[in-house]
Amino acid sequence: MAEEKQYLALYRKYRPQTFEDVRGRDAIVRTLKNQILNGRIGHSYLFCGTRGTGKTTIAKIFARAVNCEDPHDGSPCGVCASCRAIAADASLNVVEMDAASNNSVDDIRAIIDAVSYSPTQGRYRVYIIDEVHMLSTAAFNALLKTLEEPPSYAIFILATTEPNKLPVTILSRCQRYDFGRLSTETIEGRLQEVAESEQLHAEDRALRYIAGAADGSMRDGLSLLDQCIAFNFGNEVLTYEKTLEILGAVDTAVFSRMFGHIHEGQIPEALSILDEILAQGRELVQFVTDLIWYLRNMMLLKASESVRDRLDLSADNLERILNDARSADLAEIMRYIRIFSGLIDSIRYSENRRILTEMAIIRAGRGRMDDGAGDMGVDQLDNLTNRIRELEQRLLADEQKMAQMPKGVSFLGDEAADGREAAAAAPSAGGGAQAGQGGAQKPQRTVLPEAVPDDVRDIVRNWKKYIGQLPPGLTRVSLLGADLSLGDEGQLVIVFNNYVTAEHFIRDERYRNRLETWLARRSGKRVRIEYKSLDKGHKFTDNYVDLRSVIRMEIEEENDPENE
Ligand SMILES: [Zn+2]
Repeated sequence: MAEEKQYLALYRKYRPQTFEDVRGRDAIVRTLKNQILNGRIGHSYLFCGTRGTGKTTIAKIFARAVNCEDPHDGSPCGVCASCRAIAADASLNVVEMDAASNNSVDDIRAIIDAVSYSPTQGRYRVYIIDEVHMLSTAAFNALLKTLEEPPSYAIFILATTEPNKLPVTILSRCQRYDFGRLSTETIEGRLQEVAESEQLHAEDRALRYIAGAADGSMRDGLSLLDQCIAFNFGNEVLTYEKTLEILGAVDTAVFSRMFGHIHEGQIPEALSILDEILAQGRELVQFVTDLIWYLRNMMLLKASESVRDRLDLSADNLERILNDARSADLAEIMRYIRIFSGLIDSIRYSENRRILTEMAIIRAGRGRMDDGAGDMGVDQLDNLTNRIRELEQRLLADEQKMAQMPKGVSFLGDEAADGREAAAAAPSAGGGAQAGQGGAQKPQRTVLPEAVPDDVRDIVRNWKKYIGQLPPGLTRVSLLGADLSLGDEGQLVIVFNNYVTAEHFIRDERYRNRLETWLARRSGKRVRIEYKSLDKGHKFTDNYVDLRSVIRMEIEEENDPENE
């Protein structure tokens, strides 16, 4: 697909071709090179680590190196017949398989049958099996037989993001290499090289931000840089500010500052950060979602610092979160998470996002003042609490009124004033608008097939988990906020209430492909998806069956134990 290529352009274009070009993998590269130089090559390797950390890249260089006619210091020469054939994908000596889409025993058998023929050219047949944890049990057993007695010329390189899902029998047969997250400096250095080659003028701070956002993944770093280049029309300098805008994200330093002020009860300072965020035109729902994610990581670290390896965070981010985590106790952190999680639910469809967010910040920060840090008396606090409660109820009532208005209220408005004016300007809604809900206007609802396919059910149940693992950004936030339904052909229908977001997803086919692949890798199941936009003025449940509640009901009714 041409578009997909375009998206991955930098990542592909600058993929290292020799061991010397690889960044940040010195120990692994040294070991592999020594094996090649000393002729002590193994038969089965296991490369573990998150996406974009160099597993496949190094596997490919290794595959070329072992077959190269004239290796230089263990690296492939790049010009001999074998190197050129492999580079052109014209060699039978290197076989790549993605177990995410080929996980059956037949797929493995096809490979294993080929193993029995020795190579006619070159020395080794190298089999690279990506996402190997997704093989079926039968496929693992078939593979194991070959790993136990491999022909002298066969090399298996198994790559996986989840080694814990591999059978011990396979693990024990392999030399294991762990590809940890790359440091921000390593990624930044590479981005600088690439920017230079591309004659892209970028501020150091911009590249540093992209490197940080990549969170240890070189592939993500280059893909983010790609996005920045695509949006940075003309030959303008890629500034830090523009990068933040394009990537639609907020610096983690901001979360740390926000947390610090809230935790110290410095409410004006915390509110001024909010002003900054809004002045920069950022999405509040996203900001709050990412703040919750930040607090969640703090919470996990607080519960046990040993979870740090499982958090998938770069060293810089980990450091910052650890520091913050040490300054608060677990109960406090949980309290903040509760407050902001509640906020997310209420601001998603609200016109009063700003006020609600300010209230949440005040409430979170006020807890600190309770401890005596503030000079407010108990009476005053009670007063404040009551006033907040009152305000909330009024806002809630406003919202309900607005939700019943068929049209005319912008779903994008961020400012309370807009909502207020709209509410005031609307003809008194009193029941008239409500008629639309039960009357002839009611649009046809998609009919739910008798059974929800198991694959779809699994994805819906684990939606937060799978989507939560996407890198922070607009895509993750939008998908987390979307509603889920089922299409006529059993496809998972993702419905956005914001039509601008929906357009963005629907217009570009890549978003569908990428999400399908992402979900397949997380869940082991390939499900077809479809993006839809909610018609303005309609509620999700007017037009669609809410898959989440259907599945929730099923669980309650049958106490269905099928979920893992
Ligand atoms: Zn060569």
